[in-house]
Amino acid sequence: IPCRVKGNFRIKGIRSTNPVAVGDRVTVMKSADDADYITDIHPRRNYIIRRASNLSKESHILAANLDAAALVASLRDPATPTTFIDRFLATSEAYNVPAMIVLNKSDLWDEEEKELAGAVAYLYESIGYPVYTVSSLTGEGVAELTGALRGKTTLLAGNSGVGKSSLINAIVPGADLKTGRISDIHHTGMHTTTFSEMFEIPGLSAGSYIIDTPGVKGFGTLEFDRHEVSHFFPEIFKIGAGCRYGDCTHTHEPGCAVREALEDHRIAESRYASYLSILDDSAEDKYRKGY
Ligand code: GDP
Ligand code: ZN
Repeated sequence: IPCRVKGNFRIKGIRSTNPVAVGDRVTVMKSADDADYITDIHPRRNYIIRRASNLSKESHILAANLDAAALVASLRDPATPTTFIDRFLATSEAYNVPAMIVLNKSDLWDEEEKELAGAVAYLYESIGYPVYTVSSLTGEGVAELTGALRGKTTLLAGNSGVGKSSLINAIVPGADLKTGRISDIHHTGMHTTTFSEMFEIPGLSAGSYIIDTPGVKGFGTLEFDRHEVSHFFPEIFKIGAGCRYGDCTHTHEPGCAVREALEDHRIAESRYASYLSILDDSAEDKYRKGY
């Protein structure tokens, strides 16, 4: 329904460049003009934002009312770094949006890569994140993934080139997204123009949607509080309950249950490395802000 926005919609404490975002539930007032009017935006269950630019205090709401978030990743051509996967998962924990991982381009894997894919799936499923193996080229695994999206609004993210657009085309044949682009981020003045788009998934019960946020690799930006980082790594958080000190950062403290678990391989080194890298960033942020 072509609509104009009537009124001034602002979220308290956030200066946003777009009042209405993909996924919003709105009230529409019929009008005799060529476009109807959005007169009300219903409260958002959740939303993800990113700053309009590094220095700006304005934010851009990328999507609202998500039920799930899927990271499209690839083991090769290009390989998705594990820190990228873990940052995505930690951010989804912070936003309280259930996350899943989709390993695409399975048609390219040799025996060694198949084994690696198995190990990756085992690791993340043991933490609680579903992992789907697909090929948007051959269609392998696409039906199973599509089934998991039933009845939900799911955000799809992924680093450039992993085949996110191809996958959306495979799930939603009418989407007709361009594939094989080098980059789709255009800088126009201060703002990065990003148009998130929502597609209804055909063949499922009504109310199954995919949201694509072109040009957004992960989830937008989120600054983590240093003391909260471990809350967003479920297995580290759980084991961290056994640390001697309640405010243990799991870096150097004596009696740290997390570092003990790391030695016993009950926590994956790659996950711990990602945890440390986010911890590092949040420390830098503090330093920059002069806290
Ligand atoms: P995006 O940047 O994540 O949207 O990726 P695209 O969908 O544009 O795909 C990037 C490149 O990977 C294109 O050349 C696609 O044809 C290719 N590609 C996408 N999915 C697959 C797949 O499952 N297998 C193989 N072999 N290539 C794929
Ligand atoms: Zn500890």
